[in-house]
Amino acid sequence: MNLILFGAPGAGKGTQSGFLINTYHIPAIATGDILRAQRRAGTPLGEKVKGYMDRGELVPDEVMIDIIRQRLQQPDAQNGFILDGFPRTVAQAQALDEMLARLGRQLDAVIYLRVSRQVLIERLSNRYTCPTCNSVYHFTPEQAHNLPRCPKDSSELYQRTDDTSEIVARRIDVFLKHTAPLIDYYSAQAKLENIDGQMSVEEVRADITRRLAARKRVGAR
Ligand code: AMP
Repeated sequence: MNLILFGAPGAGKGTQSGFLINTYHIPAIATGDILRAQRRAGTPLGEKVKGYMDRGELVPDEVMIDIIRQRLQQPDAQNGFILDGFPRTVAQAQALDEMLARLGRQLDAVIYLRVSRQVLIERLSNRYTCPTCNSVYHFTPEQAHNLPRCPKDSSELYQRTDDTSEIVARRIDVFLKHTAPLIDYYSAQAKLENIDGQMSVEEVRADITRRLAARKRVGAR
């Protein structure tokens, strides 16, 4: 299964990728996590992308395409993958199509989690992330005074520097301008599954499962 989880920042891509990993036994490739790991390790790539990320802007296409080209060649991605945060521009989507065509592979579906701007802002402003397993949690400002540790690995949770209100607004604008055109791009390829991302986590999960199963049935005919 070759999937893309698509949606604005805060749409729930990371949350849903967790269950897809367990269901299909394929890796989630989250470009934001890859970049944050490079930054933490202080690599030249980490240094290069820092400014873009802190400003809520997109890292240049050629940098991102290179990262994905290398990652898709890793052994664990040979039976499928879930892309989370890539592609974010039409140029990235075209490069991915070319990469997959060369490998004799194709996308099975693009899962678009649709969420209103207001809900995205609410979710991101109270989002806390685990630096070890990248899980996200939500706490009210009162709860955040006494932040618990990550229940999975006891790491200290933190608030991403780009989850502050000014940068969040910019990231949503960037999504609308550069990434939303991919809705038409993948609709034209009949790959898009347009899902109401404001349902509960469980309802979104059930809807994704249902739609992927329906695609599989059609594909098997
Ligand atoms: P995310 O964790 O997906 O919200 O990504 C955090 C930041 O990393 C984004 O705001 C961008 O600066 C950068 N980034 C991640 N993926 C991409 C991509 N595919 N294209 C350009 N920039 C990206």
